[in-house]
Amino acid sequence: MQELTHYMNGEHVKGVSGRFSDVFNPATGEVQAQCPLASTDEVAKAVEIAAAAQPAWAAVNPQRRARVMMKFVDLLNRDMDKLAEALSREHGKTLPDAAGDVQRGLEVVEYCIGAPQMLKGEFTDSAGPGIDMYSMRQPLGVTAGITPFNFPAMIPMWMFAPAIACGNAFILKPSERDPSVPLMLAELMEEAGLPKGILQVVNGDKEAVDALLDNPIVQSIGFVGSTPIAEYIYSRGCANGKRVQCFGGAKNHMIIMPDADMDQAADALVGAGYGAAGERCMAVSVAVPVGDETADRLIEKLVPRIEALKVGPYTAGNDVDYGPVVTQAAQQNILRLVQTGVDQGAELVVDGRDFSLQGYEDGFFVGPHLFDRVTPDMDIYKQEIFGPVLSTVRAGSYEEAIGLAIDHEYGNGTAIYTRDGDTARDFANRINIGMVGINVPIPVPLAYHTFGGWKKSAFGDLNQHGPDAFKFYTRTKTITSRWPSGIKEGGEFNFKAMD
Ligand code: NAD
Repeated sequence: MQELTHYMNGEHVKGVSGRFSDVFNPATGEVQAQCPLASTDEVAKAVEIAAAAQPAWAAVNPQRRARVMMKFVDLLNRDMDKLAEALSREHGKTLPDAAGDVQRGLEVVEYCIGAPQMLKGEFTDSAGPGIDMYSMRQPLGVTAGITPFNFPAMIPMWMFAPAIACGNAFILKPSERDPSVPLMLAELMEEAGLPKGILQVVNGDKEAVDALLDNPIVQSIGFVGSTPIAEYIYSRGCANGKRVQCFGGAKNHMIIMPDADMDQAADALVGAGYGAAGERCMAVSVAVPVGDETADRLIEKLVPRIEALKVGPYTAGNDVDYGPVVTQAAQQNILRLVQTGVDQGAELVVDGRDFSLQGYEDGFFVGPHLFDRVTPDMDIYKQEIFGPVLSTVRAGSYEEAIGLAIDHEYGNGTAIYTRDGDTARDFANRINIGMVGINVPIPVPLAYHTFGGWKKSAFGDLNQHGPDAFKFYTRTKTITSRWPSGIKEGGEFNFKAMD
């Protein structure tokens, strides 16, 4: 059995807490590795190493720091297949999806090559007689991030690339369910020229997270995961005086207007609802057709598409649409919620409960499910299922449809399918959700824009990547300097002269 490590001070380090968690191959159900769970002392050690290494890194000029990112991009491309395979083996997603996971992280690294431009300060010449004023963005020091299982390459890179480009040290606490790719990324960053101790990976669970939250040297915490943990980390981190941004769960609605191209809408729903087995925070999990006729047309188009989906292990080739979910607990939770939907009166139009794959009977596969006539009081509407389950809520009007999305407690992403520009514009303006697609099902912003939800999907006031990341990972210092010539001209420092 493979025993995984932490990555500290440029080396793979064995866990010494004596605690481990199982890492599964979700396709077979077998335990393939043991992930060490760090103790408070092991986390403290990583923080100490980071604190010692960070000042020298902050003193490296931004262009040189950017060159490390450039080289890292080359190495990611070189190792793309290896990374994707390691990712699929622990997560279960298909190989093209795993390569996409790496690619969307890589794009943020590319954006961080622009650090010298992003970190340029502001300068006011002659703010008063002989007085200049300037602002500069300085790194925070030791920063940390806690990431979820569903994007084990992309989300760590969304955090550590801007943090490190800004001159910080970064401690990554990845998901204990798929920790191998984060360890590989740390190795590649060092191969790209990053000094030891600037990026470390500490594997663990709540104990490691709490140790980061309570360590006074750690200046900021980034978190992506489920909403209850996001709320916990946000409140404990803020109470400890840290800068914190937390991104939580989702229940993304897609509204289908009667004038929408129904084939496009159905294709989009199948990709966005079932891709990656629904384990995406930007997955569409609720379809809201407007009018019964639209709903009937949509369901008619959806059913054959969903029934044609190929579910299988990543090793079965590129025509597999989605793989297993991450653990048996996730599989059972999804099937429990499906049963709750049936019990509460929703109509199960496509029933994937009996799904089984020959040769992979112990894998954590879940067949695709489609519900119709779901109502807002049902658990399957209120809760995030995070599986291949699409719920249809029929709305009588556009107002009722937008009202559903507005009233839902989550606000990560949403979409509208329509040919009517006026409706699309009204939707984009009124909706209280962070990322909006117009005839686009998964509106994930590109690296140079920012990513973040509203309501219970995000806590904190700055988004991930884009310009917000450079704000999150730096603090501003503003200097007012007076030169002797100004004093001579105005005699003693003369504030009036500044008016
Ligand atoms: P999770 O909340 O279970 O775990 C996330 C991280 O928190 C992991 O590193 C885990 O070890 C740690 N953790 C778990 N329990 C903890 C506890 N009690 N105390 C401290 N730390 C704890 O989430 P997950 O299952 O890994 O990921 C799926 C969730 O992430 C979904 O809800 C999904 O919507 C969300 N997500 C959100 C976004 C976004 O940008 N909003 C992106 C991806 C995933």
